[in-house]
Amino acid sequence: MSNIALRCEGVTVSYGALKAIDNVSHAFQEGQVYGLIGPNGAGKTTLLNVLAGRQMRYSGQVYCGDQDISQHPAYERARMGIGRSFQIIKIFGEMTVAENLLIAAQSRRPGFQPFWISRRHDRKFREQLDSILELTGLTSYRDEIAGTLSYGLQRSLEMGVTLLPDPKILLLDEPLAGIGHHEIEAAMQLIGKISQGRTVLLIEHNMDAVMSLSNEIVVMNNGTVLACGTPASIRKDEAVRSIYLGEDDE
Ligand code: ATP
Repeated sequence: MSNIALRCEGVTVSYGALKAIDNVSHAFQEGQVYGLIGPNGAGKTTLLNVLAGRQMRYSGQVYCGDQDISQHPAYERARMGIGRSFQIIKIFGEMTVAENLLIAAQSRRPGFQPFWISRRHDRKFREQLDSILELTGLTSYRDEIAGTLSYGLQRSLEMGVTLLPDPKILLLDEPLAGIGHHEIEAAMQLIGKISQGRTVLLIEHNMDAVMSLSNEIVVMNNGTVLACGTPASIRKDEAVRSIYLGEDDE
């Protein structure tokens, strides 16, 4: 049995009378990919925000390994190895690909001082940058202005930014959203590659993609976990099919 990387216990997020998340407890094992699915408004993004420390108004606990991180803000969780990507791409469109990665690497160092970078650190960052460029397939685009890249490549760049500084846990919010048909395959391959050796929570509406990338599917509905299990078992689950997948899904 592998270790637990991330765990939430009795998490509730309320907006007035609405419970976006209602007493959710779930454990995410090290090295596994979890597909988080459910209808619009089910609470998926809110749960990701709670885990990432971007939603601090909640009751319940969040643990990273054995450590209670419920009160840790997002930047501390990022430094503990929890990386988060967003539905809307967050890169600097007017900067080059390499500059985006360099800024991400430097800004996530403890004690970051934007106008002072030692030669030693600079060299280390540049090495890190080269490996991220290669991993994300962006080596030949390193000096291109990020905003001029195709949407799929911008997503790859955002993934590269999320991978700095080598998080052990990745929270990905709809990483395939907006990517055209011709770039989906490459994007899925990238997600598969970066998932190796990491714990990944993946919100994704592309059902084929999430089913093929995940070891386990967690289905949310009305702020609660309706079901969890292997992709095959979830595809067969009657309750899931009726609320989400649709009777015609195969
Ligand atoms: P989608 O697939 O559409 O992104 P989701 O499963 O990620 O949906 P959430 O975005 O987590 O769902 O939203 C859960 C519920 O909480 C929804 O009913 C949403 O309207 C509500 N909600 C989310 N953020 C807020 C907010 N800041 N203020 C009020 N209600 C909110």
